[in-house]
Amino acid sequence: MSRELDETHDVSRQSWVASAKSHPVFPLQNLPFGVFSTGADDPRGGVAIGDEIFDLKRAIEAGLFAGPALEAAKAAAAPTLNGFMGLRKGLRAALRKRLFALLAEGEDSVEAHAFEATLLHRAASCTMHVPATIGSFTDFFAGIHHAYNGGVRNKRNPPLLPNYKYVPVAYHSRASSIHASGTPVRRPNGQRKRADESAPTFGPSRNLDFELELGVWIGPGNAPGEPIGISRAGEHVVGLCMLNDWSARDIQAWEYQPLGPFLSKNFGTTISPWIVTMEALAPFRRAQPPRPEGDPTPLPYLWDEADQESGAFDIGLEALIRTKTMREKGMPAHRLSASNVKHLYWTISQMVAHHTCGGCNLQPGDIFGSGTLSAPDRSGWGSFSELSEDGRTLVELASGETRTFLQDGDDLILRARAEREGYAAIGFGDCTGRIVPAVEIG
Ligand code: CA
Repeated sequence: MSRELDETHDVSRQSWVASAKSHPVFPLQNLPFGVFSTGADDPRGGVAIGDEIFDLKRAIEAGLFAGPALEAAKAAAAPTLNGFMGLRKGLRAALRKRLFALLAEGEDSVEAHAFEATLLHRAASCTMHVPATIGSFTDFFAGIHHAYNGGVRNKRNPPLLPNYKYVPVAYHSRASSIHASGTPVRRPNGQRKRADESAPTFGPSRNLDFELELGVWIGPGNAPGEPIGISRAGEHVVGLCMLNDWSARDIQAWEYQPLGPFLSKNFGTTISPWIVTMEALAPFRRAQPPRPEGDPTPLPYLWDEADQESGAFDIGLEALIRTKTMREKGMPAHRLSASNVKHLYWTISQMVAHHTCGGCNLQPGDIFGSGTLSAPDRSGWGSFSELSEDGRTLVELASGETRTFLQDGDDLILRARAEREGYAAIGFGDCTGRIVPAVEIG
């Protein structure tokens, strides 16, 4: 058994919380951290367990923690989790083990069970918040199939730019407009110009798109000027979420040269609100797939044997759409794509090492996007720009409707689920946004 695996991954254990028993998303073995409010109290930290949220503040008041777990619980009970994320891994792991003991059936949980009525809140009646004050948001471009598909549509030959297989390409995006799942997404106004138009006009984006991405929460940071070596990069990552990098393609196509995306991406980003910890994800690690023959070996500062052996993840991803018509007819969401985190060309540790190699300092609560995580074939393309070939073909939905890009009233839902035989499957919780009409231009 890997040193990363411990009793908190034991599939035979169940929680005394009834809804958590074999829960498809938040079973006992997940224990993600987030920030919630009930309406009666201010936002504070909690842990998802089944259909409930375990209230860390009340658990501390009930005297359920001591020692290192208490120190970590205090940080995790705060209205923002930056302090918790900045803790060293050992403290965070101690809290996970104590939470597992408190919430599992067995002798250790008798005390917690006695406080059940005050410790648990129905998640459906709580509001989830962005779990940290996000200092910086960097969006990578590490989904190689998305990058390749974009090159094909732009008639580049070869489709990937020469730097792609050497540099984990990214752009610095906007932290202030990151919202928790469920927050409406207002269609942006901006300068739009499609390829078939000779001059730009100002108005609502006509090609509003989603991007199926993984979010990476940074834990302990580094001092300015002191790079994080790749062999230590994993210590600086606290957990993962889903991330939708909403993109206005007609604004993007006009504005992006030569400095990259600006207003086409900064009007909003949606994240799933739970931080699924690297500890919870340990069973789903896998080797980074070997690079195709002919691809360059990464430069030494991006190469670490241990990272190559276990730095990738097998996590299934989905993007779904539910239109206004589907909701009115009571139809379920229509799946647009099914992909997997294993399609990343660069590992998360390679992203951390590259981001800091020039001396840039990361801080607890910073977030990375992976880049759109498309699968090699159409069934797993993670954006409408790919699915509709920039609007040239119609995407047919189960309702009989068609789309080339998102329309007002559409819900776009991202989901992630990690499964492996012998372990409890865990999910991330929905990352959802509904498109609402643009502000009218006066
Ligand atoms: Ca993106």
